[in-house]
Amino acid sequence: MSKDQFPQNYIDVNTNLNWDEYFLLTAMITSFKSKDPSTKVGCVIVNHNKHQVSAGYNGMVSGIDETELPWGKDKTAPLEHQKYGYVVHAEANAILHASKSLEGCTAYVTLFPCNECAKLIASKKIKEIVYLSDKHKHQESTAISKKIFDLAGIKFRSVEINENLLSKLSEHLNTLVASV
Ligand SMILES: [Zn+2]
Repeated sequence: MSKDQFPQNYIDVNTNLNWDEYFLLTAMITSFKSKDPSTKVGCVIVNHNKHQVSAGYNGMVSGIDETELPWGKDKTAPLEHQKYGYVVHAEANAILHASKSLEGCTAYVTLFPCNECAKLIASKKIKEIVYLSDKHKHQESTAISKKIFDLAGIKFRSVEINENLLSKLSEHLNTLVASV
């Protein structure tokens, strides 16, 4: 039986969502799980087949009572009373939770990686970073990350989530809400 015999079963599907947009949106949704009141970051690690290998968001050390730990970021307080003493970054969590090799993978992140995460990314032989925001681009940590990436041959590029995609998303969400 040919396609022409049953044309009604062959529907042309046209989606404008490319892989970059798809995985960055997935990273954004992953970031929503973070309890950090100021900066929610998501990371999705993808292999060369475009399969998601791991994901993570910034959160307190796993398996301990986090209600005992601070979310404040006032650096004039002792480190013991700052979130920086206890939080594991999104990229670090994604790497920690991966059960497969990350060699040659691409990391999609909502925020450009800090130098601590850059060390882990390079050590795991991840080969590409795709990011949404680089709001800390003037910080020393970002310059070190870029140096590590350059030395390790890791490419990095930013992708903007465009207006068209956002309006499609909100259209989709409105359709879902309307159908409830
Ligand atoms: Zn980091």
